[in-house]
Amino acid sequence: MEQKRLLAIGAHPDDCDILCGGTAIKWAKAGHIVKFVSVTNGDTGHAVLSRAETAAARKKEAEASRRMSGIFEYQVLDHPCGIEASLGNREEMIRLIRNFRPDVVLAHRLCDYHPDHRAAAQIVLDTAYVVMVPHNCEDTPIPQKAPVYGHMHDGFREPRPFRADAAIEFDSVLELKLKVMECHRTQFYEWLPWSVGRRDFDASKLSDREKRAWLLTFLERFKKGTAAARPILCRSLGARAGKKVVLAELFEQSPYSRQVSRRDFQKLMEP
Ligand SMILES: [Zn+2]
Repeated sequence: MEQKRLLAIGAHPDDCDILCGGTAIKWAKAGHIVKFVSVTNGDTGHAVLSRAETAAARKKEAEASRRMSGIFEYQVLDHPCGIEASLGNREEMIRLIRNFRPDVVLAHRLCDYHPDHRAAAQIVLDTAYVVMVPHNCEDTPIPQKAPVYGHMHDGFREPRPFRADAAIEFDSVLELKLKVMECHRTQFYEWLPWSVGRRDFDASKLSDREKRAWLLTFLERFKKGTAAARPILCRSLGARAGKKVVLAELFEQSPYSRQVSRRDFQKLMEP
């Protein structure tokens, strides 16, 4: 088996878990090398803890998530929230990508709601061409093969809805994906309920079934996308299995990096 290397880059420690955690679990199970990166330390993601306390807690949560999912590495870069697509941040990303030598690099899209998501997407996309230009960051040699870049799913429709070029079902690893998400306790059980007005939310008073139902609400967005990606799933898994898929993670190829056919992009994303 050819071992593949996947590098998923989100803005915050939990973005990759939600957007490609199932795919990562399947890749890791199949013996491939997966690395998650959070471009910020996520330090504004709490209403009670200080920024320093939040960053420290989230670093530990990312490590717990790594152990739970079985991926190779979960790196949280030491930038506070409020990241910008500066030249320095681009160069840091060029070196990170070259050192990891990924087959695939995944990022948010540029039309995401969160300024950190947009900036992280810009930083990653700004490397897509120059990562293979030796005179950029000359201290770090370019990889032998240019990685293919792609985007992780979002539901934003302006200026253009997400286009699924690849779809990976995660019904088969749903329980583990939920456990991986649950590692980010400060987010799913504290910050996110607070941020949507659930000030009385207390995870310690919930049964396991209620906690599972709460976590599943964050995966609702995948249901619609999965329906739209049905033809891809049927081609990939066969019509019978493809029709049964409820939840899939979706990926769109970026036009800025090395291009492969849609069929090959799906193959590349499959574990
Ligand atoms: Zn985020």
